[in-house]
Amino acid sequence: IKISKSYKLASRDFHPDNTIIEVKGVKIGGDDLIVMGGPCAVETPEQIDEIARLVKAAGGQVLRGGAFKPRTGPYSFQGIGIEGLKWMKDAGEKYGLLTITEVMAPEFVDVCAEYADIMQVGTRNMQNFDLLRKLGTIQNPVLLKRGFSSTYDEWLNAAEYILAGGNPNVMLCERGIRTFETYTRNTFDLAAIPVIQQLSHLPVIADPSHATGRRELVETMTKASVAAGANGLIIEMHTDPDNSATGDGVQSLFPDQFANLLKELEQLAPLL
Ligand code: PEP
Ligand code: MN
Repeated sequence: IKISKSYKLASRDFHPDNTIIEVKGVKIGGDDLIVMGGPCAVETPEQIDEIARLVKAAGGQVLRGGAFKPRTGPYSFQGIGIEGLKWMKDAGEKYGLLTITEVMAPEFVDVCAEYADIMQVGTRNMQNFDLLRKLGTIQNPVLLKRGFSSTYDEWLNAAEYILAGGNPNVMLCERGIRTFETYTRNTFDLAAIPVIQQLSHLPVIADPSHATGRRELVETMTKASVAAGANGLIIEMHTDPDNSATGDGVQSLFPDQFANLLKELEQLAPLL
């Protein structure tokens, strides 16, 4: 059956080879599994420096951290803002890590792109078309998270906005979707990984942290993602997740869990 697709540039029909995004020598979508790790939010210069050190020591390639946080309620911590981007840039440079941060509005794209290597579009903004259009005008890679109620077709069309604008560096992140189940924060759609790789040539990144919302499930779902063929992972880790984390502490790994997990992934890789 021939299904007519509304997206073109994102489709494997139009681009049979896998897209490999190269950022400062790191290749995303190639043979190496990429690990992005770090806190949900940048909190202090000391916090992001120490977590960067731990991500690097564990073998990660990218430091994650939000300076602009899309919180459900307006009274929750909203992020440090531009000052936090500077702290993260310093930490990334100090330890030789790429950085990824969320950008929520078109008017903040330029400043985020000035300080961070990879732009994250959060689940709540997957169909913020003005934001997607603006991201099409820069060349920084974009990690486009799946909207928590979005179909594959809608997700790939969102990617199409960025590609059509002239930025070919898009990766797609499965971070769980909303279902009737409430035990986990979201329902991890593991099949999205092979499905998107069949439909598209863009790299696929799994986010087992937001997909489960539970620290004790992150390790297993990370391994499942790798077995399913993910090109990379984005995992939350914090030095004090149960006490001082400003958000998502219950799903954030402790540093030793993060390090052990990456060690196990190295052993898993040759089997796949
Ligand atoms: C995050 O990465 O911290 C985040 C807010 O993710 P999502 O948009 O998937 O909820
Ligand atoms: Mn988070």
